[in-house]
Amino acid sequence: MKLVEIHNIGGQGFDSNIYLIIDKTIALIDAGTGMNFETVKRNLSKFNLKPSNIKLLLNTHCHYDHVGGDRDFIEASGCEVAIHELEAELLRKGDCAITFAGVFGKRLEPIEVARELHDSDRVKLGELILEVLHTPGHTQGSISLYEPERKILFSGDTLFCGGVGRTDLPTSNGKALANSLRRLAKLEVERLYPGHGPFAEKSARRHVLEALELFG
Ligand SMILES: [Zn+2]
Ligand SMILES: [Zn+2]
Repeated sequence: MKLVEIHNIGGQGFDSNIYLIIDKTIALIDAGTGMNFETVKRNLSKFNLKPSNIKLLLNTHCHYDHVGGDRDFIEASGCEVAIHELEAELLRKGDCAITFAGVFGKRLEPIEVARELHDSDRVKLGELILEVLHTPGHTQGSISLYEPERKILFSGDTLFCGGVGRTDLPTSNGKALANSLRRLAKLEVERLYPGHGPFAEKSARRHVLEALELFG
């Protein structure tokens, strides 16, 4: 089993974490607000990469702190943007309310969505084949991405190391979040990469179980 590099190149200010996956296809999971794009570019350059090297951008959900930076990458590389089918339209029409762009004092310019994701879709990057898990609750179209061989879980704002995403927002649903946590708890998880805060690269299933105990 080959090592695939995963690095967080975001997380500054209001930005979500931005995970860089260096595989045959170089991909990002989430793009931050775009307000710190210069820092993100600098972080990319540490791996001898530029925004133009990014070929695929997977958004875990529609919130501005995750999708605001999509446009910078599309403009730099023409990369494909993917998001769950329930939230694709929000990006296409440049919704500012449900995405919270307005809360950040920003407008979300329409984003072309190349690929709508559905539960149990597989996204092949090369060595890594990510399974799409529809995990609603924080938003109705929130997804997690799972790689069963290496037991890697990208959980967006569904689950953090030490907490869960808010469920008092438009399209949030506490019961749906609890169900999503129950689903994630069935997975073997060694490495957990959430949408905010620290990630865990060892024995990470305990974070899933803790969240389930508190919020399930
Ligand atoms: Zn977030
Ligand atoms: Zn969110």
